[in-house]
Order: sequence, then structure tokens, then C-alpha cells
Amino acid sequence: MFLFDFHHHHPQKKSGLYNANILEDVFTKPFSIGLHPKDIDENWKKNLQVVKDISADKNCKAIGECGLDRLIAVDFELQKSVFEAQIDWANEIQKPIIIHCVRSFSETIALGKKSKVQMVIHGFNKKNALAQELLSHGFSLSFGKAVLNRVSLQLVIKEVPLEKIFLETDDSDFEIVELYQKVADIKSISVEELQNQIQKNLENTIK
Ligand SMILES: [Zn+2]
Repeated sequence: MFLFDFHHHHPQKKSGLYNANILEDVFTKPFSIGLHPKDIDENWKKNLQVVKDISADKNCKAIGECGLDRLIAVDFELQKSVFEAQIDWANEIQKPIIIHCVRSFSETIALGKKSKVQMVIHGFNKKNALAQELLSHGFSLSFGKAVLNRVSLQLVIKEVPLEKIFLETDDSDFEIVELYQKVADIKSISVEELQNQIQKNLENTIK
């Protein structure tokens, strides 16, 4: 069974969406590319142009990960400008956005109002109230390894509609099938039903 890994950093893996680095020239498999907030430096304008150039590739399925991170040293206002520029670009090329968000959800929601494409918060591991707020603003949520052993997050999954869920390994080393199995159990459906639904979600997200 084909189980889609929505966001990962494993170059050897062939399935799912590989998060490319701007210094690589992949690109024979589906990938996403963006300027991560931690990678913003004095060359950001040039690097943003690289992102734009590479993202024209037909195998580029999404812009990201990009977003906001309050725990890093990069100037927060600059992070907002670079994120906004990537939202504008995603709108222009009509590709979804994979969002990295650390302690900056209200700013992400505010900037997200500019988006005309599907926005997916990756690695979501917060409370249900925040999940519901993000859903009400049109975001989807991608869940990762934390679901396997954090009961509070399993309870969040229960409350998030299947149509809004993606699953990912990110940079962790485990098999995506474990996560599908866990979420299928939480939702009281089969892995196959979950896989079918996520496939539909992909079709609605990646045009
Ligand atoms: Zn990642």
C-alpha cells in the first residue's frame, strides 16, 4: 500500500514530498522548496530568487517549509517579510505552502489571510483549541512522530476532521506506516481508508 509522507528530509526516500535544500539540484521526485526562517541571512533576496526559479519545476509540489520561528535569532520582522514574500509567490504559481511555525501562530494566521492556496502547518503538536482555530482559518495540519507516544496529541487527532490531516516523518527516523496505523486506530478506521482519505486531501491540496 502506498502511504504518502507529506513532509520529509530523507534524500534517499522516493515517496512523499521531499523537502529540498536550495543548494541541491534534485529533482526527479516530488519535492517542496522554500526559505526556512533559520536559513534567512543577508543573502535572503538572492536565495528567495533561487527558490522561485527551482519551484517552477513540475516536480515541485509545494512552497516550504517556510514560516515563523520565535526561538531563533533571526530578526522576527524580517522573518515576516520573507514569509509574506513566499505566500505571494505561492499565490502566483498556485502551489500550496508548508509552514514551519514556532510560537508565532497568531502572526501566521494574520499573514495567512493573504494566501489563496492551501496552507499546511507541518509538525503540529499543540493543543486542540489551537488546532480548531487554525482549521477555522483554512489551514490543514500535518502530524509527525510525536503522535506515536503523546496521548494529548492523540486526543487532538480525534478532534481534527480527516479531510484536514496529513502525516509526515519530517527529519525523524521511523516508518510512516507506524503513524498511519496509529492514526487509523485513533479514528477507528482501517489504514487503507486513512490512506484513501489522505490521497483525496492531496488531490485537493496539490493541483
Ligand atoms: Zn521539516
